[in-house]
Amino acid sequence: MPKQQKRTAASPVVKDRLKRCRRHMKRAGISAYLVTNPTDYFHLIGFSGEDSAVLILPREVHVISDGRFDETINHECSWATKWLRKGLLNAEIGTVVRSLKLRSMAVQAEHLTVDQHGVLRHHCKLRRLGAAPSIVGDMRRIKDASELTTMRQAIRIAEAAFEAMRDTIRIGQTELELAARLEYEMKRRGSTSPAFATIVAEGRNAAHPHARPGRRKVKRGSALLFDWGARVGGYCSDLTRMIFVGSIPPRIETIYEIALDAQCLAIKAVRPGARMCDVDAVARNLIADAGFGEAFNHGLGHGLGLDVHESPSLSWRSTDKLKVGDVVTVEPGIYLPGVGGVRIEDDVLVTATGHRVLSRLGKHASDAVIRSKR
Ligand code: ZN
Ligand code: ZN
Repeated sequence: MPKQQKRTAASPVVKDRLKRCRRHMKRAGISAYLVTNPTDYFHLIGFSGEDSAVLILPREVHVISDGRFDETINHECSWATKWLRKGLLNAEIGTVVRSLKLRSMAVQAEHLTVDQHGVLRHHCKLRRLGAAPSIVGDMRRIKDASELTTMRQAIRIAEAAFEAMRDTIRIGQTELELAARLEYEMKRRGSTSPAFATIVAEGRNAAHPHARPGRRKVKRGSALLFDWGARVGGYCSDLTRMIFVGSIPPRIETIYEIALDAQCLAIKAVRPGARMCDVDAVARNLIADAGFGEAFNHGLGHGLGLDVHESPSLSWRSTDKLKVGDVVTVEPGIYLPGVGGVRIEDDVLVTATGHRVLSRLGKHASDAVIRSKR
């Protein structure tokens, strides 16, 4: 039985998102849509619990969860019908589906495992258990004004934390210490968690695009790569900057200038209607013409929002087009095994007239040099 509760109305933002979701459902011929990706149901109805499911019907919303999130539901979505399971989630979904006498339902194929699909089929006894298109994923791509306000906060916090951390860098500190300092400075400013595992890479460790910070130490003449982000209200920022201790090693300076030119030129190409592969090619061709084509071994960027990597993929593999409201990272890099690597990353909003760079940290080589201090 659903739990009775005191209800308050859904917020205008949630009402609007549900309206748009139902429009997509109707177009796809879906009368019941089971959302199991926690990030997706958070976006739709603002419910932040885990291990739960949200069933969207044309006129109702059912939240299927457990006792741990009872109060969370009362607080975040009391207007929805609440079901608290004692047993397994899929069994409770079956109970809800059977008591509502549903005949068909669509699930999130991009999130549900084959195993879970089989268990759901067993419990729900539906005539049709189909796969929905990526409804919420597509909705999440286009950021509204309130989302952009939160994302700007996440960017500002990451930037202020970076500047505070930069002043504390001393010879002999390890990559892990610098990562801890950066995460501490972000939390102090209101970030609930890092948007992803902070990357701090010294010297040749920076030749790995996804380097893990370790016990390598800051030296005079170190080139340090930082890739970090804050999380605020669920939304992520994602930035990469270099810091050079005392001076820039000559080979690194060469590739830094090339990567920076490539990044600035690619940002100029960001506009609605531009194909992902064409924006990627702007940076890739410049780097290849300079003789480092092989050393840029990942896509140019990615969508950013509630997930640090989300749709769209700004890469050579995609012929999809940028849309107004997309927020993407632009982050070319050049990696020289055994020597080091550079990457520069900013967060960019696609606007009706082109783009707006949301991040503001300086990125000229001279901005990146700090005095070497003991
Ligand atoms: Zn990054
Ligand atoms: Zn990124």
